[in-house]
Amino acid sequence: MSAIDDLPPLRAVIATHGLSAKKALGQNFLLDLNLTAKIARAAGDLAGSDVLEIGPGPGGLTRGLLAEGARHVVAVEKDPRCLPALDEIAAAYPGRLTVIEGDALSLDLTQYLTPPVRIAANLPYNVGTELLTRWLDPPDWPPFWESMTLMFQREVAERITAGPGSKAYGRLSVLANWRTDARIVMDLPPEAFTPPPKVRSAVVRLTRLEAPRFPADAKVLTGVVKAAFGQRRKMLRAALKGLAPDIEDRITAAGLKPTARAEEISVEGFCALAREMTR
Ligand code: SAM
Repeated sequence: MSAIDDLPPLRAVIATHGLSAKKALGQNFLLDLNLTAKIARAAGDLAGSDVLEIGPGPGGLTRGLLAEGARHVVAVEKDPRCLPALDEIAAAYPGRLTVIEGDALSLDLTQYLTPPVRIAANLPYNVGTELLTRWLDPPDWPPFWESMTLMFQREVAERITAGPGSKAYGRLSVLANWRTDARIVMDLPPEAFTPPPKVRSAVVRLTRLEAPRFPADAKVLTGVVKAAFGQRRKMLRAALKGLAPDIEDRITAAGLKPTARAEEISVEGFCALAREMTR
């Protein structure tokens, strides 16, 4: 029996099902169920929510989410070797866990979920950034989820939560802070994982705002931010010169200095500039 439920400890689960970690799938497992329950608590009020979990693996976080009272967990796993272990969890929590085998990048998962929905995941980092960008930039806002509680490399977590003037501030920071409250809620050393990754990790919680913080067209804003940070050492008037012939006037009209650099511009400033681009 484990610390949080009647199922076997995760080391035993891994041994029983032969779940040796595969590097190609970014498998660094969390085996401490007290820790996974703590991450689940950081995901907010689970009792009345469906939780979308990507990459449950042997099920450590899944068990944390269920033990913390998630109404229903929908877990998407690419590695078929993990399915028997996940089926055992589903049997221990009747009707509360749906496991889907597949690649989260190519599935439409909203059909399995009933609002309110929270997302929680300890994902391979490349997949995590790609999914985060998609979840932050849906065709319509508000999105299908209320909050996302996601594990990243510490450095990526800093990029998501950074403000202007910091080295970590970039496209991801503007995208995240425009439409969510994003903050780091937990730090994890490499030893928290089996096998340990090379770098430190952090859990970021992003809570959606009902409307973007400042008005702007999402596509135009994305274009401006991409161009500005694409050449972050250049002044705005040089970095953005391909966007419009009168770019310097537009930058000034947005209340910004054409000589400023991208990392000095607040989310509000970028939104003002995006609005000027559509005039
Ligand atoms: N959640 C487990 C934990 O915390 O111990 C496993 C975390 S491990 C870092 C990442 C998991 O994501 C692995 O189980 C891996 O097989 C799965 N995975 C990798 N790419 C995926 C994808 N594209 N779609 C769904 N699952 C994926």
